[in-house]
Amino acid sequence: MNFDLRGKTAIVTGAARGIGLSITKAFLKAGASVLITDILEKEGASVAKELGGKVGFLRHDVRREDEWSAAVATAERSFGGVDIVVNNAGIETAALIAEIEADDARRVLDINVLGVIVGTRSAFQAMRPGGSTGRGGTIVNVASAAAITSTPGLSIYSASKAAVAHFTRNAAFEAGALNYAIRSNCVMPGMTKTQLATQLGDHFTQMGLVENEPAMRHNLEAKIPLKRYGEPEEIASVVQFLASDASSYMSGACLAVEGGATLG
Ligand code: NAD
Repeated sequence: MNFDLRGKTAIVTGAARGIGLSITKAFLKAGASVLITDILEKEGASVAKELGGKVGFLRHDVRREDEWSAAVATAERSFGGVDIVVNNAGIETAALIAEIEADDARRVLDINVLGVIVGTRSAFQAMRPGGSTGRGGTIVNVASAAAITSTPGLSIYSASKAAVAHFTRNAAFEAGALNYAIRSNCVMPGMTKTQLATQLGDHFTQMGLVENEPAMRHNLEAKIPLKRYGEPEEIASVVQFLASDASSYMSGACLAVEGGATLG
């Protein structure tokens, strides 16, 4: 098995912090060059500087088609091509269905779903035969365990992540049908210790669905077979597996990385 990523270049979106940052660190350790992209300009530039070496940062809003073109061009110019695209950027929202505001839903769908769609299109255009890099590659999308579970207050987010999972499968099938030599897979993390999970707990608290964030976490952890939230590094290692040749016979897979949370 080969988890090695030497000679590969990756674009990781939403990588200024959280799971994306852990993915970046894992990729760098495995020998890849990484273009970190995020809308958090200060944080992104600062982590890129801190990590040093084969890493760059570009301010990039995943909703923007022109900024996707710039991200691919930057990776090709700085590191000689694009072999891996990780569509990680995403946001949460919490609302009961009777209270949903269309603008809020639109914002989440734009970032979580359209961002992945435009990102995959950019990856296809760069990686497919005759593309700007043209040597095939792998796409890893970060969906969520919420793609396959139901939670009051989480319907918009859950629907957005179900769309990511099914788009991942469609991309895998289409890439195969067109002989692109591109694999497309996704991970479905459970609750993971990042700002997003804390924010979600705060939103649920404001809505009166839980007492407070620590209480929510305590109750959820009790129901998870592995009895805890995940660490960002534990998501990153599975993303690395899917990006590497160790998963060379996998395409269209969505792997739950949730301590068994979706079993019950
Ligand atoms: P996070 O909030 O720490 O990181 C998300 C990053 O995405 C931030 O740096 C943010 O600036 C960036 N981002 C937001 N909107 C963007 C945009 N329009 N363009 C580019 N970047 C943008 O959260 P995280 O937990 O690290 O989330 C990473 C991914 O993991 C997300 O897709 C999230 O839905 C998914 N996920 C997280 C959990 C969890 O419990 N933390 C669980 C399942 C799935």
